[in-house]
Amino acid sequence: MHEIYPSFYREFKCIANLCEDSCCKDWDIDIDSATEEFYKTVEGSLGDKMRRLLVTDEYGERIFPCTDGRCPFWNKDMLCDIYIGIGEEHLSRTCANFPRVAVDYGNFREHLLSFACPEAARFMLKNSREAYSDFGSSTELSISSDDEVMSFLLKARGKTLDYLLNSGEPFAYRLADCLEFNAQVQAVLDGEEPEPLDLGSAESDGCGFIFDMHREFEIMSGEWKDALDETAAIAQELRISESFAGDFEKFALYYVYRYYLEAVNSGDVLYSIKRIVCAYLVTGKLDALFCERNYPYPRMRILQRYSKEVEHSYDNTEALNSAFDSDERFKAENLISLLESEAG
Ligand code: SF4
Repeated sequence: MHEIYPSFYREFKCIANLCEDSCCKDWDIDIDSATEEFYKTVEGSLGDKMRRLLVTDEYGERIFPCTDGRCPFWNKDMLCDIYIGIGEEHLSRTCANFPRVAVDYGNFREHLLSFACPEAARFMLKNSREAYSDFGSSTELSISSDDEVMSFLLKARGKTLDYLLNSGEPFAYRLADCLEFNAQVQAVLDGEEPEPLDLGSAESDGCGFIFDMHREFEIMSGEWKDALDETAAIAQELRISESFAGDFEKFALYYVYRYYLEAVNSGDVLYSIKRIVCAYLVTGKLDALFCERNYPYPRMRILQRYSKEVEHSYDNTEALNSAFDSDERFKAENLISLLESEAG
């Protein structure tokens, strides 16, 4: 198995109680079966508490449910009672691995850090495409000739990043180019002749519908909900700055590496690009509002929180994908028109 890492991967270290938005906050904690078996044997009050709190969630997973917005083992000093009580080696797989993510594609596996962790987000914002230089092409990864779809997708992913990172153009235009290119890629995947998009007939009534959708999502943080409501009310007036785009580009880079190749199973490359478009419009407008009103909220936190609230929520991601399938306003032509009106 060919294991691939970005250059900063091994430098990452959890900053524990110094973290601005801990992974012990807002989320239920998944407990894998080997960890559960061990927890059944832990003695004393810690073991009793583990056994009392462990439940099965609506997806059939064993979890410690988040209580009052926090893991029940995250103590008042913002440290983990399980880590302190029985050692790091007995953390569940989820706790031990986060924010490390590994995606297995058969004969190669790509390792990334998640943007939902503030410290990992800082690493990604500091690093450009060169940090991912080991994420190779089909030739470098020895993809066999019978794996035509993967080989095609690897080439298309490289080209998608060329469009996204083409610094000669405003970012909204780059995203529009990226959508147009991937509409062609999608036609090839669907076994159709790629046709130019009919951009003349596309219309844009602004990004209000994207904000409406995000406000209906399952939202964990009251602060995030208030910020979304406030931004949605004047979204049309807010302009996304190119300095924000410079940071968002790193989020988009992460997102393409994290999700583009999912198309090998889903058969859809546009899902990942359309999710980037939504993320750009929502976080870019939030940033514009925060700059206008002098909110002391670093840009990193807007992108990190989007990752935590939307990217890491199975239900929210599914809601987006399903809207892409059924709502005409998310057609590539309409999103391109929307992006062009934002840039113009
Ligand atoms: S979010 Fe990242 S830095 Fe913060 S506590 Fe979790 S792993 Fe550590």
